[in-house]
Amino acid sequence: MPSSLAHYAMSFAVLYPVTGARRAGVLALLGLLPDVDALLGVHRSPLHSLVVWLVLLALGVWWRGSSLGRLVIMASLLSLIHIFADVFTGPAPLFWPFSYRAYSVAFDLFVSVRGSGGILSLNGVRFGVHAGVESFVAKPGELIKGPLVDATGVIVAMAVALFVAVGFVSARVKQGRW
Ligand SMILES: [Zn+2]
Repeated sequence: MPSSLAHYAMSFAVLYPVTGARRAGVLALLGLLPDVDALLGVHRSPLHSLVVWLVLLALGVWWRGSSLGRLVIMASLLSLIHIFADVFTGPAPLFWPFSYRAYSVAFDLFVSVRGSGGILSLNGVRFGVHAGVESFVAKPGELIKGPLVDATGVIVAMAVALFVAVGFVSARVKQGRW
């Protein structure tokens, strides 16, 4: 799993243009909801199922007239983004409760001097992407450990912070305050 810091930073980046920095700082915590199961000693449990969050999203849309409904919509969308990010680093039971099979996406870039394939060719050197979906049947409640903070999370968080800082400064300059 990407670290919690990376998930928080991604959620913040999605929310910031809509809600502004202060509210995004609080609401981005909703993007960590799928990892609540980690506190119970399991990770990638049913909270990492697309089915669960799509059902909640539908309920949120049904209740969209209320602030609870809008909160459920936001939590569902951020959790779907969370799961999307997670499948690139490990398996998730995307279709629970219909299937215990957990899916992950294997993804790597390659460069080849001879041979064919690839999506881009420069002077006979070919660049390409190997991507494939892997799956296995996960035992329910299986523990998949992941760090709360890792190097990727720190880099993503710094990139988001820089993006927000540049936006903040350029808005102030435009307003003539600086
Ligand atoms: Zn997760």
